[in-house]
Amino acid sequence: MIVVENLTKRFGEKTVLNGISFRVNDGEIYGLLGPNGSGKSTTMKILVGILKPTSGSVSIAGIDPLRDPVKVKEVVGFVPETPVLYESLTPEEFFNFVGSVRGIAKEKLEERVNYLVKAFGIEEYLDQFIGTLSFGTQQKISLISALLHDPRVLILDEAMNGLDPKSARILRELLLEFKEEGKSIVFSTHVLPLAEMICDRIGLIYKGELIVEGTMEELKEKVHEENLEDIFLKL
Ligand code: ADP
Ligand code: MG
Repeated sequence: MIVVENLTKRFGEKTVLNGISFRVNDGEIYGLLGPNGSGKSTTMKILVGILKPTSGSVSIAGIDPLRDPVKVKEVVGFVPETPVLYESLTPEEFFNFVGSVRGIAKEKLEERVNYLVKAFGIEEYLDQFIGTLSFGTQQKISLISALLHDPRVLILDEAMNGLDPKSARILRELLLEFKEEGKSIVFSTHVLPLAEMICDRIGLIYKGELIVEGTMEELKEKVHEENLEDIFLKL
C-alpha cells in the first residue's frame, strides 16, 4: 500500500532525511519511532504531499503524492503533530467544510460525524469556536476530520498527544478496526508501550536514517534488548 524509496530531504545545508526506505502492507500498522528531531514529521509530511523531498520516491495506493497531492488526499487521512484547524469555525462548521472539500454526501457525512463525535465524546463543544477549545479537544477534532472520508491509509503524527485515557483507548480501538478492514496506518508516538501493543512492525529513525526495522520480536533480537524503551535508550 505504501512504498517509500530512498527519501532524502535537505533544508538548505542541513540534511534532515538521509535515504529513508520502508514499505507498509495492507492491514498493517507501521510505527515510525525515534527521538525528537529525528525526521518523523518530515517523513510524514512528504508522504501526504505537503513537503517535497530533495530526492527519492513515494507511492501510496499507487498514487504519487508528489505528482498528485490532491488525489492522495482522497485516500489518506492525515493527523498532523499540531492540529491545523480553522479556529473561528465551530467543530460542526469545520466538519461540514471538510465534508464538502472531500465530496462526502450529506447523509453519509452526518452519519460519520455523529458516530465519531459520540465516540470521542465532544458533543458539548459542537457549537463553540474551535479556537476557544482545549488542545485535547482540538486534537480530537483533528482526528475526526481525518477519519470523515473513511480513508484507506491513515498517517498519524503523535496523534495520542493530549488525549485523555478514554479517548486514547477509542483511538486505539479505531486503529485496530481500521487494520482489520485491510487499511494501512503509519503511526508515530512517544508512548512506547502503546507502540509495542499495536504496531505490526516498527521502524526506528535516528538523525534522518532508518537504522533498524522489524516486528517487536525482530527488534529485540537485532538490538539485544527486551523492550522498546531499552532499545530506544541504546540509540
Ligand atoms: P521529529 O518529528 O522526528 O521530531 P522533524 O521531522 O520535525 O523531527 O524534524 C527533523 C529535523 O528537521 C529537525 O532538526 C528540525 O529542526 C528540522 N526541520 C524540520 N522542518 C524544518 C524546516 N522547515 N526548515 C529547517 N529545518 C527543519
Ligand atoms: Mg515530529
